[in-house]
Amino acid sequence: MTRAPIQNGSHVPTVDILGVPIHRLTRRELLRLLQQRREQGLATWLVTVNAELVVRAGDDPAVAAALGKADLLAADGAGVVWAARCLSNVELERLPGVEIAEELVKWAAGAGLKVYFLGAEPGVAEAAVGQLRQRYPGLVAAGCRHGYFSPSEEQGILEEIKAAEPDILLVALGAPRQELWLAEHQEKLSVPVAVGVGGSFDVWAGRAQRAPDWMGNAGLEWLYRLIKEPRRARRMLALPRFVQQVVTRKLSGR
Ligand code: UDP
Repeated sequence: MTRAPIQNGSHVPTVDILGVPIHRLTRRELLRLLQQRREQGLATWLVTVNAELVVRAGDDPAVAAALGKADLLAADGAGVVWAARCLSNVELERLPGVEIAEELVKWAAGAGLKVYFLGAEPGVAEAAVGQLRQRYPGLVAAGCRHGYFSPSEEQGILEEIKAAEPDILLVALGAPRQELWLAEHQEKLSVPVAVGVGGSFDVWAGRAQRAPDWMGNAGLEWLYRLIKEPRRARRMLALPRFVQQVVTRKLSGR
């Protein structure tokens, strides 16, 4: 698999959100692009970016550098969509990571591609595959591996993934750990499509619920998660900081 940034040849426009260039793509365009790049033998590492990750990239140069290596950055959350509108008058489609990941599974099941599931607690990836198979009977799992491994186990995991030769690698280690992990390993794994999918395996396995549509549509998915998982409160302090940084950028006219 060759690596080539999206900018080389695909001409997908971006919108800058506090230093993170988000690609302007609809869901359909994103999937088509992934399919085209795979056909062309180009590997694609996709990151679905939410407000929290943008703030982390501003705070931590390692996260910013990781995002700089990704091939494709899509707008995961309502916060990023709002910021694009506020800063650049650009209307982005919201592409939630769990939905994009499920589109990839659907594509894989229909096209006979193999998917490797890395991450979440022991047994969750297997349960997720079991549930997904009911919706997408053709789904072939190249392998499943939980995400609570020690540094000494990492080499074995990398070798296992390489040997399984997946077409799509879903990494559910949470953000930004999955991005840092993929920044370090994605190139040598040489997987056609790799994406960090956060808590998607927990959702598919029935261990976590997504916000109801009315909350998602109102941009309140973060509030639902805060109510369901109050331990996230500290992490969510990133959200008011995101709003503050976007408004400051807007007012400074840069
Ligand atoms: N996780 C993991 N290894 C770790 C820490 C987390 O596999 O060392 C998993 C965790 O079990 C969960 C996912 O990563 O399935 C993180 O989900 P979350 O919804 O918090 O994702 P985020 O919002 O951080 O993208």
